[in-house]
Amino acid sequence: MADTSKRRVLVVDDEPGIREILTVYLTEEGYDVSTAEHGFDALLQLRRATPDVIISDLNMPHMSGFEFLSVVRRRFPEIPVVAVSGAYESGDQVPGGVIADAFYSKGQHHPEELLHTVAELIQTSAEHAVNHHRQPAPVWIPRNGKDSKGVPFIVLTCTECLRSFPLSVLREDVQEIQETPCIYCATPVRYVIDFSLAVASPKIHLRAEVSGSRAEAATY
Ligand SMILES: [Zn+2]
Repeated sequence: MADTSKRRVLVVDDEPGIREILTVYLTEEGYDVSTAEHGFDALLQLRRATPDVIISDLNMPHMSGFEFLSVVRRRFPEIPVVAVSGAYESGDQVPGGVIADAFYSKGQHHPEELLHTVAELIQTSAEHAVNHHRQPAPVWIPRNGKDSKGVPFIVLTCTECLRSFPLSVLREDVQEIQETPCIYCATPVRYVIDFSLAVASPKIHLRAEVSGSRAEAATY
């Protein structure tokens, strides 16, 4: 009989090497692992099956991890998420407004920590879900460019009435949650301007750090 108690983990990362190595670690630990190359790919997969935990890179093309995690929190508030990045050393440096339950730096080279985090999140997922429902996630807004007068603007979609409206921004580099009333229904809309395209994600070769069977498996 199939083991129906297997926990599922979805790994989202644009770097194939990271997807492979995390798959090896998590599979050895007994998880059922699926992977996605970027946020849109992951959202498609989430329509078919919901994992117990999502591990997502923050700096990815097409849809940044910041935006992806914000979408996940709004649409799947019951799923705990781990943000992974090579651009920040520790969780303290990650900009405000990142919607994650835990952070793992690619530079840490301690996969046991990541595995421990995943196990803990699964155990405490009920508590997380309650908290996630309590505080709605801000919307991550990609930068749109400049209007005809040369003023940078973004397009916000109200989470209440679902109407979109443009908003001029004085500063694009504010890395925290901001709030503005919807111009139609006046509901405060919480948002973060997605600066992540400007954040470089260094390539880190995790593979060199593993030994024995794990390294062999990872090279396939
Ligand atoms: Zn509105």
